[in-house]
Amino acid sequence: MIVILGGGPAGRLAAVRLASAGEDVTLVEKAGIGGQCLHHGCMPVCALNDVARLVQTARTLNGLGLTDSVPAVDFPAVLREMQKIQSTIASVLDTETREAGVEILYGKEGRFDGERVVVGDEILDAGSVILATGSRPTIPEIPGIGSPGVFTPHTLREMKSLPERLAIIGGGIVAAEFAWIFSCFGSEVTILPRSSFLKRIDGHLRRRAVRELSGVRIRECTDVRAVEREGGCLRLSLEGAGCQEALDCDAVLIAAGLVPRSGMISGVAKGPDGEVLVDNYQRTNLPGVYACGDVTGPPYLTPVARLQGIVAADNILGRNRTMDCSAIPQSINLGYELAFCSDGSTSARPLVIPGPAGPGTFWSVPASDTGLAKILVEADGTISGICSASPGAGLIAGYMAFLMKHHVSVHGFEDFVEVHPSTDGVYGLAKYASEVLKKRDRSG
Ligand SMILES: Cc1cc2nc3c(=O)[nH]c(=O)nc-3n(C[C@H](O)[C@H](O)[C@H](O)COP(=O)(O)OP(=O)(O)OC[C@H]3O[C@@H](n4cnc5c(N)ncnc54)[C@H](O)[C@@H]3O)c2cc1C
Repeated sequence: MIVILGGGPAGRLAAVRLASAGEDVTLVEKAGIGGQCLHHGCMPVCALNDVARLVQTARTLNGLGLTDSVPAVDFPAVLREMQKIQSTIASVLDTETREAGVEILYGKEGRFDGERVVVGDEILDAGSVILATGSRPTIPEIPGIGSPGVFTPHTLREMKSLPERLAIIGGGIVAAEFAWIFSCFGSEVTILPRSSFLKRIDGHLRRRAVRELSGVRIRECTDVRAVEREGGCLRLSLEGAGCQEALDCDAVLIAAGLVPRSGMISGVAKGPDGEVLVDNYQRTNLPGVYACGDVTGPPYLTPVARLQGIVAADNILGRNRTMDCSAIPQSINLGYELAFCSDGSTSARPLVIPGPAGPGTFWSVPASDTGLAKILVEADGTISGICSASPGAGLIAGYMAFLMKHHVSVHGFEDFVEVHPSTDGVYGLAKYASEVLKKRDRSG
């Protein structure tokens, strides 16, 4: 028998892969199948962002005099209906997983003690083990951080009403996404990054994000020293740029990153943040024990977790497969998708253009707000990165990342036939870059 701890994207995909190959697989899931991605992360952000985009589009059209109103959001209804759809998706995943032949033990907290998997009083006799217990939000050590009215993405569904004033602790992608959503819904939002906002993101995309968040206060380099409940509201003591200040708000959202959830795992080698250490085959230091997904540390992305799960499963099946972490695409979902992929090269030259007018950007032409496309090209035509801010940028980045992985250069775009109309400016930049490089080569 193969035992898998955790039914998130990593553990579930590993389980299905193994069971489909005829293995006897038991999946232990203490909460809901689908993990953080379905219940607290990607899907809730999609759900809320869809509603926020509707409001934002209505505002744009209203501002142009094309419609006569902007809808008000019924926040409790949004959360209630969102949870119904999450349950539907969870039951689809449950059926799919069981039909593949996986036995699922729900509501059970599993432990791994370095030799055995223990679930309650039961010892599961496993030939191989996959640890896929994911991650949880990082809770900064701030006095009063546990006060009522302070939420994380994991507890957001307990928010009873739309806060008039929301403070977000954090300055990364998740902070930006929630800030944009709540700002569209009508909350007054303040983001409190400890250092720079979106500090690891390409400069063009970062500026684009700041533009989209123009209604949000971004107070960079701010430490939250304390959270206190004062009557009906929360008071945050802030310290930054040499001065101290208080910020009153109705709710606080912690978006300060994720940390591996590995407290129930012992006897395997771990890193400083508790991440289970693995090699490229997803093997831990113990024979027959594999780990995948967020429990192994960053980049904390569902597609990476899924692929690691499949790699772990394939290696248990003797297929000798390694994890390829090159060209991982990613997106920040605001009004547009701000998607990117980079191989980290520092020698590539950038080309940037405004996004084209097309579906989802046409009515943004008057405000010169059609997004952007960017490509990073090496002297030999190799594409080392792309950025796109447009309605379909996530899809563009996924396929471009795949082409980058397969070393397609800008010259390979000569025959590219696009769909028209579309808001993709990346293919046009690749064609243009190819022409520029050829001209340069011709002129010696
Ligand atoms: C707000 C937010 C937004 C996000 N947005 C994106 C995004 O846009 N794109 C993206 O790619 N990623 C996003 N992520 C990250 C993504 O959700 C994770 O990378 C992904 O869910 C990791 O999958 P996993 O299977 O490794 O872990 P998890 O999804 O964390 O699943 C682990 C599972 O293990 C279970 N478990 C834990 N301990 C035990 C135990 N002892 N016994 C039994 N079961 C246990 C948990 O209940 C859980 O179901 C987001 C995350 C957050 C919080």
